Amino acid sequence: MTADRRAPKRYVVATLGITAAGALWYVLWLATGIGPATVAYLPLPLASAAAAAAVLDLLRRAPLTRPARQFWRLLLVAFGSIGLGFAGLAVAGFRDTSVLPSLPIAAAVLAGIGFLAAMWAMARVPLGITSANERWRQWLDRSIAFLGSGTVLFHFGLAPMITATQQWTTQTITLLGMSFALAAGSITKVAYVRGGPIDRSALRLVASTGLAGAVVALLLVHGGDAGSVPAHAVVMPFAAALGALAVRRQWTPAAARPGRAGTWLPYLAVAAADVPLIAVIPGEPSWPDKVVIAASVLVTGLVTIRQFVAFRENARLLADKRASQERLEHEATHDGLTGLANRALFRRRLGAQLAQGDATVLLVDLDDFKTINDSLGHDVGDDLLIALAEVLRRESVTDGLPVRLGGDEFAVLVTEPTALGETIAQRILDAFTAPLSAHRLLVHASIGIATAPAGTPLDRLLRAADVAMYAAKQRGKGNWVRYHDGMAQPVANHAQLGGELRRALDAGEFTVHYQPVIALHTGRIVGVEALVRWQHPTRGLISPAEFIPAAESTGLIVPLGRWVLRETCRQAARWLAEFGPDALQKMGPNVSARQLHDPDFVADVQAALADSGLPADHLVLELTESAVLRGPQVSRALHQLHALGVRLALDDFGTGESSLSLLRAFPADIIKLDKSFVDGIELDPPGSPAADARQAVARAVMQLALALGLDTIAEGIENADQAHRLTELGYTLGQGYHLARPMPAAAMSDLLAAQHNAVAPA
Ligand code: C2E
Ligand code: CA
Ligand code: CA
Repeated sequence: MTADRRAPKRYVVATLGITAAGALWYVLWLATGIGPATVAYLPLPLASAAAAAAVLDLLRRAPLTRPARQFWRLLLVAFGSIGLGFAGLAVAGFRDTSVLPSLPIAAAVLAGIGFLAAMWAMARVPLGITSANERWRQWLDRSIAFLGSGTVLFHFGLAPMITATQQWTTQTITLLGMSFALAAGSITKVAYVRGGPIDRSALRLVASTGLAGAVVALLLVHGGDAGSVPAHAVVMPFAAALGALAVRRQWTPAAARPGRAGTWLPYLAVAAADVPLIAVIPGEPSWPDKVVIAASVLVTGLVTIRQFVAFRENARLLADKRASQERLEHEATHDGLTGLANRALFRRRLGAQLAQGDATVLLVDLDDFKTINDSLGHDVGDDLLIALAEVLRRESVTDGLPVRLGGDEFAVLVTEPTALGETIAQRILDAFTAPLSAHRLLVHASIGIATAPAGTPLDRLLRAADVAMYAAKQRGKGNWVRYHDGMAQPVANHAQLGGELRRALDAGEFTVHYQPVIALHTGRIVGVEALVRWQHPTRGLISPAEFIPAAESTGLIVPLGRWVLRETCRQAARWLAEFGPDALQKMGPNVSARQLHDPDFVADVQAALADSGLPADHLVLELTESAVLRGPQVSRALHQLHALGVRLALDDFGTGESSLSLLRAFPADIIKLDKSFVDGIELDPPGSPAADARQAVARAVMQLALALGLDTIAEGIENADQAHRLTELGYTLGQGYHLARPMPAAAMSDLLAAQHNAVAPA
């Protein structure tokens, strides 16, 4: 099968052999004058037949695309008709053995059909042009090239034959004219074909067969009747050999070549058209000379249009280039998402300002961005960043340069010498009291302010602003702080923090604090949430918000989480032993996604329960939605835990994207309504439309929980009004600073003891 697909050589050998035989005969004939000259008319029909056979073979056996198949079918018609036509001439030649027998009309018509078929085949070759602009330019180029080369062929080939004293038959002149049109048309076309269904070099070979016509014309013009002998014996069969070679190329087509083809062609054509023009200028012009002059004028006109088109295109390209340069410049100095100045521009401007005098910088950081991004999705996060950028622009544009440094880090460079950083910071924080973005998110930002005198290294100033911002975060959300010497340094970055966490775990610097979960109508403690704390030797108590992300990204969360779990179970069992089995129903440690992925997690939980003696149904694992949605392994672990009797709580409920569908797939027992739906719930008059809107999620979650038979806990209750509204909505359990803050185990023991004693006498 593969051998079958290889291009056969025999057709090339046959056509070249016939051409060589014709040439040999011609030389002998010239030297000896033997035999009838009409033998000269045999090679062309024979070679054409061989070329036609080559095409037929190709069509039969080669895998061709539709356009290629159509092209070669037309060429089959061309070779076949031309071969038949000139076979007619050979037959006529053996009847009338003069050197130039006249071509019978029927034979001429057949040959003419052959040329038309070839022209049609070339005309249909796809150019692969996509834009209208390019099509129009190529059309111009090709017209110029066609006219230019046509003029040359006309002047040196056709015109002398038409005006010659010797009378050439109309058939001969017409066929030659057709071969010229074919040559000019195909060469100007082929110069632009980059590739495609028809092999490029095959196309070039086919196009060059047309040139045989030009050689024939030369022979006829200069040799008269005698010129037709070599024309028929040697030149025309060679065209068929070129055809057979082209077929061979098509068997194994080459890949398309990129690049702009044929740009040189019009210029060559103009030069070519000028040659006959110069030749006709002296003397009185005959009618063919007038054709040449008219053609040259036309070519000049087309070249002018072409230049104009090129000029306009160049002007457009230049404008595009300028615009893209400006865009690049803007992109290099601005943030793509928010359009604010970026870190590079910020550093450049800050550097310039520090070179001249004082400079003041505000670092602005969103307090809850990571949570929002993780739980609500990146689109919501992006919208929020855009809204934040808008606030910064609005509040600082008169006296500062707002900047996005990256992520959720923003800055303002104070540009007005009289402006105060504090004023700008307060304006920005005030703007955050209203909800932001289309999602109406209530967010807080922390702002650090630092000022440095001229000559201070830029990074020292930025570091100071960073320290101040950290202090602002420590102070609580939505604050600004100005830097002063001796401010506590924040822990630098995740990598560094990772190492420190490892050490801290080994050194036993972690503790667990407990925040009570309270029955809203009785005030009784029904459970606790376990929250890890880091008792740092020099920096004091560090919040998990600061180190949990680092622990997660370094993987340290797995041993840390295991420790929290064991500690919680141990503590819970002790409280149950001390205050009775009813003292606490729910002991809730938080579990990260990374832990759920740990293959030993279920075994760890089992071991913690077994070692402490805590009944499994007292343990409530708090999981976030993003942690739960992690594929089959996690899902299997969760079902195993559920089967053990451990209860599962969905933390931060309502902030994720698929809270609802999650509940179907996941064996949850408890939903924790996220603090963001408790925030502000008490602000509108009860029953008003605004209050309804604010309470919509809290209400929906409650209905969902009732429908699915799940318990609920409302998180982050900060005042009595909130607790009251939540009770109205049906919530019975709550957690929050208003009810009780997280506290060390000892304080929790006191609380439980007080509760125990209050209940015991009754
Ligand atoms: P969370 O699970 O949503 O925990 C509730 C957080 O809200 C706690 O912050 C708690 O102190 C705080 N909170 C409670 N009531 C109120 C209130 O009324 N108002 C305000 N503004 N906040 C309140 P904390 O202890 O800083 O923990 C932060 C987060 O760190 C937790 O969010 C939890 O996701 C994570 N976390 C804490 N401990 C652990 C742990 O042992 N393992 C893992 N994986 N994550 C933990
Ligand atoms: Ca939690
Ligand atoms: Ca929570």
